[in-house]
Amino acid sequence: MSGPAHPAALGLPRPPFPEIYLRLARTLAARSTCKRLAVGTVITSTDFRKVLAVGYNGNATGLPNTCDRDEPGNCGCLHSEENAVINCDSPRSVEKYAFVTHLPCVACAKRLINLGNVKHVYYWQDYRIRDSVKLLESVGIPVTQVELRD
Ligand SMILES: [Zn+2]
Ligand SMILES: [Zn+2]
Repeated sequence: MSGPAHPAALGLPRPPFPEIYLRLARTLAARSTCKRLAVGTVITSTDFRKVLAVGYNGNATGLPNTCDRDEPGNCGCLHSEENAVINCDSPRSVEKYAFVTHLPCVACAKRLINLGNVKHVYYWQDYRIRDSVKLLESVGIPVTQVELRD
């Protein structure tokens, strides 16, 4: 026999889907070209069976793989959630979950709202400005922080 042992054989629990997709978001964040913060986003169906779109933050396609300027909060990069929303061609009627490595900013919270039918936002790392939590919850979208143990 070869290969790694089955996780169950090691006594490991089956990982919940939110953890799996947040790990995928974290993996995607490694492709970020923003010098300030690497953020990744995954949008899935609410049965977790389909990845509908992914995104990470950085400059627009074909432009230099770096920020436009060093100004904090105005580096010119497209945000991870923004790119995932742009990449999501699922219709508004499809219910969705959003998984983001970092708590979304207010503008991205509004983008996720207008994507339509986003039922829950999960994130890993908190952000000092938490206005988006109230905003999302005010339109019925719960926001949950998920701990990743590794
Ligand atoms: Zn940037
Ligand atoms: Zn944002």
